[in-house]
Amino acid sequence: MDRLTNLIDGERRTPRSGDWIDVHEPATGKTYAQAPNSSAEDVNDAASAAMRAFPAWSKAHPDERSRLMLRLAELIDANLEPLAQAESRDTGKPISLARRVDIPRAAANFRFFATAILHGDSEFHRTDDRTLNYTLRQPRGVAGLIAPWNLPLYLFSWKLAPALATGNTCVGKPSEVTPLTAHLLADLVIEAGFPPGVLNIVHGAGATTGAAIVEHPDIPTISFTGGTSTGQAIARVAGPMFKRISLELGGKNPNVIFADADFDLAVKSAVRAAFTNQGQICLCGSRILVEQSIYDQFIDAFIARTKALCIGDPMDDSTEFGALVSADHRDKIEAAVNRARDEGADVRLGGNRLEAPNDRCRDGYFYEPTVLTNLPMSCATRQEEIFGPVVTISSFADETQAIADANGTPYGLASMIFTSDLDRAHRVAAQIQTGIVWINCWMVRDLRTPFGGMKQSGVGREGGQDALKFFTEPKNVCIQTHDE
Ligand code: NAD
Repeated sequence: MDRLTNLIDGERRTPRSGDWIDVHEPATGKTYAQAPNSSAEDVNDAASAAMRAFPAWSKAHPDERSRLMLRLAELIDANLEPLAQAESRDTGKPISLARRVDIPRAAANFRFFATAILHGDSEFHRTDDRTLNYTLRQPRGVAGLIAPWNLPLYLFSWKLAPALATGNTCVGKPSEVTPLTAHLLADLVIEAGFPPGVLNIVHGAGATTGAAIVEHPDIPTISFTGGTSTGQAIARVAGPMFKRISLELGGKNPNVIFADADFDLAVKSAVRAAFTNQGQICLCGSRILVEQSIYDQFIDAFIARTKALCIGDPMDDSTEFGALVSADHRDKIEAAVNRARDEGADVRLGGNRLEAPNDRCRDGYFYEPTVLTNLPMSCATRQEEIFGPVVTISSFADETQAIADANGTPYGLASMIFTSDLDRAHRVAAQIQTGIVWINCWMVRDLRTPFGGMKQSGVGREGGQDALKFFTEPKNVCIQTHDE
C-alpha cells in the first residue's frame, strides 16, 4: 500500500511518531494509501524550516518568487491528467469535473498571484507640503494554511499562492480525508526548484496536526477553510494569541427564483448549483426559494432535469454525479434526510442510498440526489448546513418575503437571484446578507473579487487585493522635512 509523506525543509519525510491514517477511495470503499498523522513535533520541524527560509524568501525580488510560482503552475498543467485522476479517486468527484475545474483552477491560483505581485503599487498620502506618508506591506512570517476535502488542490493552492507570492513561507495542511493531490504537489514543488523550507506540507488529522499548527507560537497567520464549528475552535485558540485569522466556513445558500426569470436558465443553473460535486461545495444552492406562481412548474422541471444527471463511477468520462467523500459523510447525509422526514418533509426525489453503478463501486459511498419540500423555514433541515446532495424547495409570495427567507439562517456565504428585472436584481442583491451574490448565474469566479462570507460563514475575505493584504503587515512610514 502506498504511504504518502510530508514535505519538510525540501525533503520527503515520514511522521516522527510512526502514526498513519488510512485513505479510502470513496467510489469503492477500499483503503488504497496511508497518510502521515503528523504530530506537534513534525509541525514544529516544518515551522522551524519555514522560519529559516523566511528571511531569504521574503527579501527575494518579486520577479524571482513569481518565476518559481509560474513554473509550478506550468508543472500542474503538464500533470493535469495524473492530478485529476488522483483528485477523483480521493474525493469521489467525477473525473470530468477534476479535469475541467479542480486542477486547472489550482494552476490558475498560482498564476494569478504570481503575476499580481508584478503589478502592485503602494499607498501614498501627502499630508501637507512638508509631510508625506507611505505604506509598506511586508510579509508576516510563517503562514499556517488549513484546507478541507471538497475541493482539495483548488482550495489548498488558493491559500498557498497568495501567502508565497507576498513573501511568507508556509506550513500547509490538506484534509486527512483527501491528501493525495497535496502529496503529488510536493513533487512538483521540488521539481520547480523552490528553496527548502519555503513551502512545507504536513499531513494529518485536525485534532493533532491542525491543532498543532494553530497553537504553534511561531505561526502568526492562520488561513482556514472548513466547517463553522472547527472555525470556532480555531478562533478560541488563535484569538488570545493575537494571530491574524481568516475563516472561510459553511453555508446554507439561498437560490431565489422570481417568476420573471428565464425559466430554463433558472432550472438548469439550480440543478448545477444543487448537485455539482454531489452538493459538496460550500457555494451550493441548497435552499431554493421560488415565487409562488411558478412553484409547481419549477419543481417538476427541476426534478426532471435532476433525473437526467448521469450518475456513475467517478472515473467514467460521462459521469456527472459521483460518490460522497466518506462513509461517515454518507451516514451524516442519510441522518439529515431522516431528520427531514421526521420534520414532515415530502421527499419528492431521492432520499436513499444509491445502488452501485458497477461492480467496482459496489462498496462505494453513493447517495441519491434528494429534493425535499413542505418544510417550515425554522426547521433544522432549512437552517443547518447539510453539505451533500440534498436541497429544499419552498415558495415565497413577494420580494419582501424572498429577502426575509434568504436571510433567515445563521449563514451568509453566497446567494443566487434569477430574474429578468435589472432593478429588482440590484435591489435584492443589496439587501441579501451574503458575501457573494450571483445574478442569473452560479459559481462564475473572477479571482480579483473578494471571496468569503458574512455571519457564521466566516471572517475575512480571500482573493485579489484582500488576500494580498491578509498575508502582509501594513506599516505606515511618515516623513517630515524641516526648514532648518
Ligand atoms: P473540517 O472543519 O472538518 O476540516 C477542515 C480542515 O480543518 C481539515 O484539514 C481538518 O483536518 C482541519 N481541522 C479539523 N479540526 C481542526 C482543529 N481543531 N484545528 C485545526 N484544524 C482542524 O471541514 P471539512 O469537513 O473538511 O469541510 C467541509 C466544510 O468546509 C463545510 O462546512 C463547508 O461548507 C466548508 N467549506 C467552506 C468553504 C468556504 O470557502 N467558505 C469552502 C469549502 C468548504
